[in-house]
Amino acid sequence: MSTNLLTIRGIVLKETPVGEADKFITILGKDYGKVSVSVKGAKRVRNGLTAGTSLFSYSDFYIAETKKRMYLNSAEPIETFYNLRNDLSALAYGSYFLEIVNKLLFENMPSNNILLLLLKSLTAVSKNIIPNKLISSIFELKILEYNGYRPEINECINCRKPSDKNFFITFEGTVCENCLAKGCFHIPLNETLLYTIRYILTAELNRLFTFKVSTKTINSLSSFSRHLIKTQLNLNLKSINFLKEIEEFQ
Ligand SMILES: [Zn+2]
Repeated sequence: MSTNLLTIRGIVLKETPVGEADKFITILGKDYGKVSVSVKGAKRVRNGLTAGTSLFSYSDFYIAETKKRMYLNSAEPIETFYNLRNDLSALAYGSYFLEIVNKLLFENMPSNNILLLLLKSLTAVSKNIIPNKLISSIFELKILEYNGYRPEINECINCRKPSDKNFFITFEGTVCENCLAKGCFHIPLNETLLYTIRYILTAELNRLFTFKVSTKTINSLSSFSRHLIKTQLNLNLKSINFLKEIEEFQ
């Protein structure tokens, strides 16, 4: 049987134990997309595979590929995001990000923009510079954008009047008071919230995890982005319950 040797740089999205000592890991790899790799003897500390193949680990994976399957030969960690494990809130958000990415992506479809978004979001959560809830909204709006969702943010979705602070935001975008449909999900805008949503949808990724807004704006933004994740992606996320509990304490 022919074997290919390859190196994939990527992050561990999911671990699935197999028997006593083995596991499968799901990696989001640069230029590869989501791949599944068999790790033999993962739980034996001595083989040195633990750090590089744990959840959140961003590593170089040295892989032997046969026709049927990928096997891990070794892994060299670049960033393990180890401190996410020491902070319950950071862990809750990190797990939520991993689960969304894992459930959203199909195997073997390169998704470098989502990989970069995930790395930037995990870095932001682990550094604790801006509030986790704001990081989460940025992650949610960007991943929806990469998945093809583009709300209208410049004018009313119905009458085309230019958007302003008296408008509402719905899942299709900004809408004026006259055109707001009864019973549809909406959040009242104000100048800051409108500006923040526009900024997240238009600014470069590098500039996104640095700005600060009030808690009130963060909460409105989060209601909007969470609603979109729930209705647009429909992923049946397990991590959301733990995350909601954590958020109630904040
Ligand atoms: Zn209108």
